[in-house]
Amino acid sequence: MQQNQCPTCQSDLQWDGQYFCSDCQQHYKKLVFCPECGNEVEKLKACGAVNYFCNTCNELKSKSKVKVNWEKV
Ligand SMILES: [Zn+2]
Ligand SMILES: [Zn+2]
Repeated sequence: MQQNQCPTCQSDLQWDGQYFCSDCQQHYKKLVFCPECGNEVEKLKACGAVNYFCNTCNELKSKSKVKVNWEKV
């Protein structure tokens, strides 16, 4: 299962069109980066599994390897 937690207070984020922390009253945008080249990766869904594809490396990146950053919006 994918955990989307607030980077500030570690509460579970809600989804209201954007990720939202009700404790911090803060919206977040999820940014996912390639662990090799540091560019943003594309999210792919296949057979219920989520994978990420890096256009720069031209290969799939597993969910466990990519870097996730939460940006305040
Ligand atoms: Zn929070
Ligand atoms: Zn890459």
